[in-house]
Amino acid sequence: MKRRKFIQNTSISSLGIMAGAASLSCKDGEKENQSVTEVTPTWPLVVATWNVKESTQAAWEVLNKGGAALDAIEQGCRVEEANADGQSVGIGGLPDRDGNVTLDACIMNKEGNYGAVVYLQNIKHPISVARKVMEETPHVILAGKGAEQFAISQGFIPEDLLTEKSKKAWEAWTKTSEYKPIINIENHDTIGMLAIDQNGDLAGGCTTSGLAYKMAGRVGDSPIIGSGLFVDNEIGAATATGLGEEVLKTVGSFLIVELMRQGMTPQQACEEAIGRIVQKNENFEDFQVGYIAVNKKGETGAYSIHDGFVVTTYVNDNNESFKPDYFNKST
Ligand code: ASP
Repeated sequence: MKRRKFIQNTSISSLGIMAGAASLSCKDGEKENQSVTEVTPTWPLVVATWNVKESTQAAWEVLNKGGAALDAIEQGCRVEEANADGQSVGIGGLPDRDGNVTLDACIMNKEGNYGAVVYLQNIKHPISVARKVMEETPHVILAGKGAEQFAISQGFIPEDLLTEKSKKAWEAWTKTSEYKPIINIENHDTIGMLAIDQNGDLAGGCTTSGLAYKMAGRVGDSPIIGSGLFVDNEIGAATATGLGEEVLKTVGSFLIVELMRQGMTPQQACEEAIGRIVQKNENFEDFQVGYIAVNKKGETGAYSIHDGFVVTTYVNDNNESFKPDYFNKST
């Protein structure tokens, strides 16, 4: 297996942050407040939002055999999409306020090509439909009924995605019908995943059922290029989780990649992107956003507004989940 190691170009200020952040007590198999850049930069690697070790394992298996980052991303995301117990992705995702499960996803390859589906219903694997949009159509985004019809034409089988568990949760919610973003809902939200394969090429993907009990028709950041995901094979990649409206308004993933292009480490770029959101929102205490990023050398970074965000990395044969550093230390 071809592997290369790189010396980290972490700046003195970010070393300070890392030292402050490195309190590594273990809880539920997750390490606490770890700066992701402490992992020796190398590739292949996969990094994902939240504690999704089975997903990163599936992605790693593709990478370890010499497979392409794009295939690793698709396989990794599919694991969580098929998990009916997870209520934020794929089957079992929490519905909108009318009780409809609507899914958003996108995927991006090393050539800078991109495919996405928004407001997709009845199809369990939006990440794979997004890839088909990228590879089989002249378009980059398909929405709603058109996306579903396209998926069926490509051989995807329609099925009811609203599980009993999610239906019960929605029915309970309808008693108050109070819409409020929930920070770190069930400690597991959108799956954003970035990978570097043995050739050193990057790809990324993002898949979600969006915010629970959203308005019908609402689309978040996850399927929108530059917001929920951006990949530039010369520089790096980034992806987001959390309140999509704030990620959209700051074009967060593109911002992170551009900051890395200007010389920031992935960690510094994630912190700057979170800083922009916090600066613009007096009410930042009410919502969560988390970013992960990787650069071309295999250095990674992650940062969120609040405690509770979890990242999983699979690198150096080590599949590990931990809490990255975060902004709001006041609570
Ligand atoms: N970012 C997703 C959205 O806004 C939701 C999430 O990650 O919690 O749709």
